[in-house]
Amino acid sequence: MAPLCACGCGEQIQLKPQHRCPTKGIPRYIQGHHPNPLRRFYAAVRARGLLLTRDVCRKLRISETQYHRLEAAGVFPEPQRWGRLPRRRMRVFASGDVAKLRAALRKEPQGRRQMP
Ligand SMILES: [Zn+2]
Repeated sequence: MAPLCACGCGEQIQLKPQHRCPTKGIPRYIQGHHPNPLRRFYAAVRARGLLLTRDVCRKLRISETQYHRLEAAGVFPEPQRWGRLPRRRMRVFASGDVAKLRAALRKEPQGRRQMP
């Protein structure tokens, strides 16, 4: 009986003649079922109750580009950084940070801003 895919989908791996080669062996996953390290990493960040830049931007109703502009202009404080490979030093936010950023956004006058 062929082994099951390691991803947990329950499908059997189709054994091919090249899998009998001792240097190759039987693959652990069906092609395309490998775990995505970036997706697992984002899930780990959210499991800690932290927010990603896209989550914060959605709550503030601004684009990520606008967020980065405001951070570069000094309107938003430097956020906490967290991470390991494959995404090092990624911006993470506690849920309380959204209110602080919203207050900073209100103080900033609306309209065109001059880039520094
Ligand atoms: Zn699978």
